[in-house]
Amino acid sequence: MGDIPATMKAVVLKGPNEFELQEVPVPQPTGDEVLCRVRAIAICGTDPKIVAGKFPGMWPPAYPCIIGHEWAGEVVELSDDLKASKKVAAKYAVGTRVAGEAHKGCGICLNCMTGHYTVCLNYGDNASGHRHYGFTSQGAYAQYIVSSVKSVTPLPDGLSYHQGAMLDSAGVALHGVQRGAVKTGDAVLITGPGAVGNFSFQYSKASGARFVAMIGRGPRLEQAVKMGAIGIDYEKVDDPVAKVLELTGGIGVDCTVECAGTQQAIDWAIKATRKGGRLVMNGLPTSTIEVPWGQMTLAELDILGVRANPNTAAPALALMASGAVTTDGIHTHTFPLDQFAEALATFVERRDGAMKVVLEP
Ligand SMILES: [Zn+2]
Ligand SMILES: [Zn+2]
Repeated sequence: MGDIPATMKAVVLKGPNEFELQEVPVPQPTGDEVLCRVRAIAICGTDPKIVAGKFPGMWPPAYPCIIGHEWAGEVVELSDDLKASKKVAAKYAVGTRVAGEAHKGCGICLNCMTGHYTVCLNYGDNASGHRHYGFTSQGAYAQYIVSSVKSVTPLPDGLSYHQGAMLDSAGVALHGVQRGAVKTGDAVLITGPGAVGNFSFQYSKASGARFVAMIGRGPRLEQAVKMGAIGIDYEKVDDPVAKVLELTGGIGVDCTVECAGTQQAIDWAIKATRKGGRLVMNGLPTSTIEVPWGQMTLAELDILGVRANPNTAAPALALMASGAVTTDGIHTHTFPLDQFAEALATFVERRDGAMKVVLEP
């Protein structure tokens, strides 16, 4: 692995919309941490909002900071604690290729104890052991990151670092489809054909959905259609919900996976889901959304919130490695880390059909 340098290049956020490439100290792994060399990191939909300072005092809690959480790389050093365990040291030996995960629960609260570590009750309290890499703890827009071993998963042979960097989107989508209990024969609707929507489509098909309709527009919708979704272009049809009802004999779909987080998409999702159906909420609205609670109550809709990707890393990577799920057409652009600004603009403006944009530190 060669020698680990004392300093590394990192994109340092100094304030809202203020960032620069800096030389900063390489962090040291302690406790249950490994030090990893970051080889690929994808821009998350949340990142531009963090850069713009849309979550003051929360993400990040303070400046300067390093964000970014959708990464893959290789283990270059283990903490002394980890080296003490032969089994752990063997599984995460120096040179092991891994994909990272943003959340690490405190491990001691009720939710962590029952496996729901992305809704850790000690969220943001780093002293409790909780970490949210790239949000409340150091992220991966850098050449190195320290991460708990709990938050890295070995990459199966045959998967590239670029594919590993898709794990966050893929894992969120898998968690959502699992929350929605999509099963053989189900009719499924997805609103929002971004990366999470696109992976949600693939997992729904892999779960046996009889069809998956997708409401969206532009190149992203075209990509979903290319993969086999029934595309409903809301710029071209008068009423996307009517199209969904047509497909289901007027009843509505068994499960809707909402991946846009907008008022319009959430309205469609509620109206297009059958009575007694499931509504999976992947989209994260940044403004207040009005919902017809009375209508939803009388329809006995199951509303299922989704927070990140708990316990989905290993199956999501295995499904990628088996070919059941592909990142083709989802990962569209790659830049070196020093072109962070260019990469961010490409992602935000969806230049040239950009969906997932990867940086190589
Ligand atoms: Zn993400
Ligand atoms: Zn916890």
